[in-house]
Amino acid sequence: MGLRTPVFAANWKMNKTLKEASLFFETFLNLLPTKLDAEIIVCPSFTLFHSISSCSSQKIKLGAQNIFWEKEGAYTGEISPVMLKDSGCQYVIIGHSERRKYFAETNAIVNKKILAAFEYGLKPILCIGETLEEMEKGITRQILAEQIKEGLFRTAQSDFEKLIMAYEPVWAIGTGKADSPQQSNETIRFIRETLSELCGIHTASKIRILYGGSVKPNNIKGFMEQSEIDGALVGGASLNPEDFAKLVLSGDPAKF
Ligand code: PEP
Repeated sequence: MGLRTPVFAANWKMNKTLKEASLFFETFLNLLPTKLDAEIIVCPSFTLFHSISSCSSQKIKLGAQNIFWEKEGAYTGEISPVMLKDSGCQYVIIGHSERRKYFAETNAIVNKKILAAFEYGLKPILCIGETLEEMEKGITRQILAEQIKEGLFRTAQSDFEKLIMAYEPVWAIGTGKADSPQQSNETIRFIRETLSELCGIHTASKIRILYGGSVKPNNIKGFMEQSEIDGALVGGASLNPEDFAKLVLSGDPAKF
């Protein structure tokens, strides 16, 4: 077992009814071994929160796909960190590229959400990644450094260890064109170095950094063999219980 426990986070996006979610867990839970040295986080729609927190097992942690930064008040349609905590949620995805693209979330908004998550005891999964255009212009590292420094502005030193990062090149999300394991490992090494400027090398070496973008059962092994990659944030392949179980099992050291 390495320094960092692997994490597999399922981002279900805007998918699954109650019935579909319960069918997923019926199959998925049966495919998991009794002991697994990986952390599993499922991030469903808010409508599924109650049923998942009561029907899933201890092996699965609940995460949200979004959060609002205020505790309560006149913010129609939003969900507060207090409400998330109250419903059994422990993690929250913040800064996903679809939120940045469709809901105009800037690094400053991401930062408000990060600080609110920490304040109310939720662990953020901070997503960062360059677009195809940014990659072609050769400014990937500049974009990632901005997303990290602005997104984590004013984070307390003691909160960094609770953070999970997800490197998700936007051009790889939902396209079937995953980054190569070697290239994403190098980029994730850069992300860890940038984090160490904020929280020191000792803490940065403990932060789990995931790769995300078209991870499938047939390519996960290459990513999990990399020294800097601590698991995956998975969209499409997490909707199928057999596929997601194969991904989760790839993080088991007994398999290597
Ligand atoms: C995602 O949306 O976070 C993601 C990684 O999606 P996919 O696995 O479908 O590329």
